[in-house]
Amino acid sequence: MLKIENLKTYYGNIQALKGINIEISEGEIVTLIGANGAGKTTTLMSISGVVPPRSGKISFNGKDITGIAPDAIVPLGIIQVPEGRRIFPDLTITENLDMGAFLRKDDAGIKRDMDYVFNLFPILAERRSQRGGTLSGGEQQMLAISRALMAKPKLLLLDEPSLGLAPILVQLIFDIIKKINKEQKTTVFLVEQNANMALKTAHKGYVMETGRITMADTCANLLKNDEVRKAYLGI
Ligand code: ATP
Repeated sequence: MLKIENLKTYYGNIQALKGINIEISEGEIVTLIGANGAGKTTTLMSISGVVPPRSGKISFNGKDITGIAPDAIVPLGIIQVPEGRRIFPDLTITENLDMGAFLRKDDAGIKRDMDYVFNLFPILAERRSQRGGTLSGGEQQMLAISRALMAKPKLLLLDEPSLGLAPILVQLIFDIIKKINKEQKTTVFLVEQNANMALKTAHKGYVMETGRITMADTCANLLKNDEVRKAYLGI
């Protein structure tokens, strides 16, 4: 579904991605793990068109999407949940969800998907008239994921969804990611520093160090790998 070939992305003279290759098949959850500053967010920003790559190629379902602007990426069904959530603090939960569906015209489908996300996160249903900015960090993460689902993503890009959440919420968010993948058949690209949870959630994983992919394997194998265990799982 998504193929990244020899991608190089810069911020001015700083090379953040040094020729990376990543492949994501339809229906998979694929994770990208790595330390702070490894280039994980830049990878997502390169896909979503926010930081256009300098060279290399990104294809989505066979179509070259390299360097395409974000407003052309979203209608293809590639929807990003940015790090730090970025919900609309002054809009209510329902209004935030409506914003996620702004390109859609199928009112019945929108209603069905709103019911689906309220069913995933009952706390959002209870607080549907409350302003987004009054929610806790965990609830804002739930809202950010829900808003992305309202866009009916084919490929959901998640940037550190567990960041700053209490352990019980971290578990909930990863359970929900698996549920969305299974029930909605949404393909997921999950960027995480929480390697343990990410590798237990995804099917396939990539390890990134200073702008390079250093390992790629099934998550089952990565969880058994001595280097991964030492560097990322603290075992
Ligand atoms: P984190 O987990 O901290 O978000 P990351 O793996 O997502 O880390 P990136 O944010 O992609 O890493 O950063 C990759 C490199 O690019 C780092 O060296 C970072 O300092 C640099 N970088 C990121 N954003 C910018 C920017 N706007 N301008 C200049 N350099 C940047």
